[in-house]
Amino acid sequence: MTTTKENQKSNSTMGKKLNIIICGGGLGGLACAIGLKRKGHTVTILEGSHTLSEVGAGIQMPPNCVRILEGYGIADKFKDAITIPKNIVLRRYSNGKPLSTTPLDPLMSDSYGFPYWLIHRADYQRILWETAVELGIKYQIDSRVDYVDDDTNTVYLVTGEAYHADVIVGADGIRSRVRDTAVITEEVILPIASPQCAYRATVPREVMLSDPKIAHLMTDVNANNWIGYRRHIMAYPMKNGEMYNLVMAHPGQAPIGTWNMPGNVDELKEHYKSFDPVIRQVLTHVTHCLEWVLADLPPLPRWVSPKGRVVLIGDAAHAMLPFLSQGAAQAVEDGCTLAEELDSVNSLDDLPEALRKFERKRKRRAEIVQLGGRKNQHIWHLPDGEEQEERDRLMKEKDSENPDQWSDVKFQRWLFGWNAFDSTF
Ligand SMILES: Cc1cc2nc3c(=O)[nH]c(=O)nc-3n(C[C@H](O)[C@H](O)[C@H](O)COP(=O)(O)OP(=O)(O)OC[C@H]3O[C@@H](n4cnc5c(N)ncnc54)[C@H](O)[C@@H]3O)c2cc1C
Repeated sequence: MTTTKENQKSNSTMGKKLNIIICGGGLGGLACAIGLKRKGHTVTILEGSHTLSEVGAGIQMPPNCVRILEGYGIADKFKDAITIPKNIVLRRYSNGKPLSTTPLDPLMSDSYGFPYWLIHRADYQRILWETAVELGIKYQIDSRVDYVDDDTNTVYLVTGEAYHADVIVGADGIRSRVRDTAVITEEVILPIASPQCAYRATVPREVMLSDPKIAHLMTDVNANNWIGYRRHIMAYPMKNGEMYNLVMAHPGQAPIGTWNMPGNVDELKEHYKSFDPVIRQVLTHVTHCLEWVLADLPPLPRWVSPKGRVVLIGDAAHAMLPFLSQGAAQAVEDGCTLAEELDSVNSLDDLPEALRKFERKRKRRAEIVQLGGRKNQHIWHLPDGEEQEERDRLMKEKDSENPDQWSDVKFQRWLFGWNAFDSTF
């Protein structure tokens, strides 16, 4: 996993040093701040909530993301928090029979130079936050952005406080205020709520290991995904094997962007009553769960404000359905490419062109990944019948396109092999 060249490149501090405000200190905002700070810019994060979020489920860190953390010299900080799965296995919902296997370890490192990790969102956020603080990035909580004035490069908080910057980055998630007040003001961009929600639950390691019907799920470390009509259960060991993590998609509705609504465990079990007895046995140990709606954004007309000093990244620009597990990775890629582009800025007049170049490098990729997520949603959730049988057949064929976007060789190479330090499309 050596990236000496990338380290040198990302450490270069060629251009003008900028004063940058990032609105939103989630995974995207934090990773972006680290990339920018390493270039010598002054970075302040304005985060709306009162504390660092502990909410959320497991998140996957694919090789295109690990490459960036390695390039930043911080990959080692993750080693106690991650799990390295051997494979992603798509399974038939009713009996657990493998339909398609995507090998991960060691294939990802061998093929793309970097591994595939699993982590809890809260650990991911904490490690990035600790790194940001160590680097001298100012992380200001209780700082909810009300609007951004593109004419004066000023961020206004709901308290009325104002902050001026050379560049303003909107990393404030799917319901972005930066997007709606400074970047796209001629129309209202409404997030698209899918007709599906996800439950999140965990089962402690000792409970899993003490039940002989399911103990193997902790010792044979894979990301397993039982797929069926309008439902799936993605499950894997997490927190260095301390717990088994379950994310379960099902038909339902909930408010967009709310991550901590309690779900009903009886309803959860009812949703998966026709699933494989092995995963249903895991569900017998679930005592509480959270529920949120799956939503994404339509492709936006632009990511950069008309005056060219405000730019969107992450979910604010391209929130995606989680069926390719790339939401956070794409946000991390955005921050990395943004830092590279701003490195070529020698005066404030260069900023609009640098930000538009960033947009050209990132927008199409992120939109293709969004589309890949929607394709997987369709493919995984087919009802039993001819189309599902054809899908299962194609997933087994080595030489044809794999309907599962993770396993399709061409798409996977493009997705996981991407170098955001040096990206051209
Ligand atoms: C609490 C939480 C839990 C999540 N859990 C999951 C999960 O379990 N599974 C999953 O796949 N994805 C989850 N996500 C989404 C996932 O983390 C993102 O898709 C991905 O990491 C992209 O990150 P982002 O930084 O662009 O957006 P986000 O992660 O949404 O981060 C946006 C940040 O901006 C802050 N913010 C929002 N509005 C304002 C404002 N007006 N002013 C200042 N700050 C503002 C938010 O508090 C948040 O910290 C979660 C997001 C959050 C915020």
